[in-house]
Amino acid sequence: MTDFTILADKALRDELLTREECLTVLQTPDTNLLELLQAAFKVRERHFGKTVRLQMLLNAKSGACQEDCGYCSQSSVSTAPIERYGLLPQDQMITGARRAAAAKAQRYCIVISGRSPLDREIADIASAVRSIKQEVPIQICCSLGLLNERQAKDLKAAGVDRINHNLNTSEAYHAEICSTHTFQDRLATIRHARTAGLEICSGGIVGMGEGDEDLIDLALALREVKPDSIPLNMLHPASGTPLEHCTPLTPQRCLKALCLFRFLHPRTELRIAGGREHNLRSLQPLALYPADSVFVNGYLTTPGQPAAEVWRMIEDLGFDIQVDALPTQGATPATAPAVGLHS
Ligand code: SF4
Repeated sequence: MTDFTILADKALRDELLTREECLTVLQTPDTNLLELLQAAFKVRERHFGKTVRLQMLLNAKSGACQEDCGYCSQSSVSTAPIERYGLLPQDQMITGARRAAAAKAQRYCIVISGRSPLDREIADIASAVRSIKQEVPIQICCSLGLLNERQAKDLKAAGVDRINHNLNTSEAYHAEICSTHTFQDRLATIRHARTAGLEICSGGIVGMGEGDEDLIDLALALREVKPDSIPLNMLHPASGTPLEHCTPLTPQRCLKALCLFRFLHPRTELRIAGGREHNLRSLQPLALYPADSVFVNGYLTTPGQPAAEVWRMIEDLGFDIQVDALPTQGATPATAPAVGLHS
């Protein structure tokens, strides 16, 4: 049996695992999964202790996208029965931030469908973010599609902390899941956000028919990007999307993928993202051994675990919810420790 502590020790020394070691992680027999999780937890514990970061999403504009991303129920090639609406009014974006804070989310993610945002949409979102920052002690992430440098700068000036833009899969496999934009287009948006001084959230999706080598290439490409956080989505195949018939993931496959990302990104926030409930099922708590971050209250077009159930899961594990010291712009700075569920 592989000695996974060797891999954990390498990660703790910030040494890159070999490709062969990465494959060993993904191909771990299910009977050895607990040893793998224990090794990944050693790395997670060094850099994140037993804390868990919560985030909440707002789908601020839904459907009617002209792109053809095969995994997405909002794409031009999807017939999935989803809600379609234009950009929500600012007061709804602000209300969403209040709800996220009440759910103990450290970060609120405003997401819109579409290839790229219109300038008036950027202006509306920027205005809503300014109001949120005056009132709600929460970090703001925006996921708005492909951005140019000026749009990224406008968002930064409004108080946006972070941009989400996922690489999704390996560069070699990208054309299999999307033909309307390229992997390089995605990298360019990340560069513009970085140039504007924004933090970067970038991850991918497991289960789109990619091979082990693609998953490893994705994790290695993200090492070049050096994101501040990595969301790892697990495909929840929606009826009516091109990927609806993909081979279903197993909970074990999802856990091995999370362990791989933890070893290759020992110091980076690692989020169990979309598809968590559907794919991990009753093994969800185990995923918090490699990962340190989750979404609460659902995703863009699918429901998810309510915040209170997530709090309970974290409490049952003996972990704590992380709450950053986040004064609003109108308030005096204060510090807050990581708090448990009863704080
Ligand atoms: S660009 Fe975004 S909204 Fe449009 S199809 Fe791709 S993932 Fe879906």
